[in-house]
Amino acid sequence: MSSILKSLGITFTISISIGALFYFSTGNFIGPFVISSVVQFILFFVWNSAMEIWRDHLRRQTDNEMYKQLSKMGLDVECNYCGELAFAPVDLSTENRYKCTKCNKDNRILIEVRTVQTTEIPESLDAQQALKNTANE
Ligand SMILES: [Zn+2]
Repeated sequence: MSSILKSLGITFTISISIGALFYFSTGNFIGPFVISSVVQFILFFVWNSAMEIWRDHLRRQTDNEMYKQLSKMGLDVECNYCGELAFAPVDLSTENRYKCTKCNKDNRILIEVRTVQTTEIPESLDAQQALKNTANE
């Protein structure tokens, strides 16, 4: 809401300035004020439409890139029957299986999820100094 008011404020300020310029040179204020307001609204509309089209284009590009990356997701796996190595596609939303190219047997891929502790970079110099001291001990 405040951004709309801000836009309107800027539009009218520009229109008043243009109107004032015309008022001092030709004595006419209302005509230039109205024309300048209308022209600005049209320009804003064209600009917003163009930006929307551009954003849409970027969104589509990002989506395509994401799908491309997702299709590349997979794991190097070892056949549970013969030990043959293979690259199997992995989709986390379904059960993953693949057929071994060597022994032709069906393998199921189990994905194990683990958690690890995080390490944080100390921000203050004191903490970094303390870290250095501990490392030397
Ligand atoms: Zn196999």
